[in-house]
Amino acid sequence: MHSERLLLGPGPSNPYPEAVEALTRPVLGHLDPEFLALVASTSERLRTVFGTRNQLTLPVSGTGSAGMEACLANLLEPGDLAIVGVNGYFGQRLSEVARRLGAQVRTVEAEWGRPIDPEALLDAQRAAPQARLVAVVHAETSTGVRNDVAPLRELQDTGTLLVLDTVTSLGGIPVQVDEWGVDACYSATQKCLGAPSGIAPVTMSERAMARARDRRQPVSSFYLDLDLLEQYYQGSPARYHHTASSPLLSAVHAGLGRLLAEGLPAVWERHARSGERLQDALPELGFELLAEKGHRLPQLTAARLPEGVDDATVRTALRTDFGIEVGGGLGPLAGAGWRIGLMGQNARERPVATLLGALRAITG
Ligand SMILES: *Cc1c(COP(=O)(O)O)cnc(C)c1O
Repeated sequence: MHSERLLLGPGPSNPYPEAVEALTRPVLGHLDPEFLALVASTSERLRTVFGTRNQLTLPVSGTGSAGMEACLANLLEPGDLAIVGVNGYFGQRLSEVARRLGAQVRTVEAEWGRPIDPEALLDAQRAAPQARLVAVVHAETSTGVRNDVAPLRELQDTGTLLVLDTVTSLGGIPVQVDEWGVDACYSATQKCLGAPSGIAPVTMSERAMARARDRRQPVSSFYLDLDLLEQYYQGSPARYHHTASSPLLSAVHAGLGRLLAEGLPAVWERHARSGERLQDALPELGFELLAEKGHRLPQLTAARLPEGVDDATVRTALRTDFGIEVGGGLGPLAGAGWRIGLMGQNARERPVATLLGALRAITG
């Protein structure tokens, strides 16, 4: 038996109890009508959480990175131009994945810790209207910054698709796929959705699916080919593609059920409140918040450590003495700061108080 942790890093977070309980249900075959009904119900819950009516909305097997690869691999062909917003680690990963698919990548950058100007992304598209897509991260988990997405709706009037990473935002802050004109969007289950990792929710607009069907060559990844996944999960009859995990899907279904029973506005409010509580308290302990007010994520706080506090020593003490996990820094905060997550089940007063109490005890 391993230890139980309070998971306050950038993910995984502690799942909702309903999701943990669902993991122990009997295993179903991956083509069992009851399993496919669970997929359909999960997809419907995901449509609500994404704010979309997209028919193609699926719980793709794999983690958030699989969702990223699925969106880009289905929409890009070698030689296509991709415009990618980069203001942190996950924007960099997006551009790396696009490059590996043979796309030409043009980045629109902002300093780590600052948001990307949506006008700069739109300008880049105006300068290169042939661009296949613009891709951006909504919630940059490396820095705790929220990028503005709504102005990118203008891309709907062009031939360029909008791809959005909502891995850390979905279920934590408002995400409106249809209202914002997002063509392809992916997330992960272990951050604000309150389930274990292993499934990547993906949704695609009709216009994006039309583009995917119009490819000159098949999607290079068989596993992440959304057309094949659609034939498996939504076909009649369902066509075997891979052996999807029923315990994992049950957990995600149950986590989403818990979230929707509470209601999205209440869940967003809970994240906002606990994040504010932490962000009010950290400067009093000598931490310096990286993101500026107005673009700060409540569910992920990146902060520079107080003078004289050693990263490894204090993180080890948090883990071994208090069972608390926080994340190390990336980029400008590598070795010098932390990333603290208050996601899903942990977006509450108690984890905040527990962490602050432990920090005061350790750093005295
Ligand atoms: C965590 C994360 C990912 C990658 O997800 P995995 O589940 O670790 O594969 C991608 N994008 C963002 C913004 C993330 O926070």
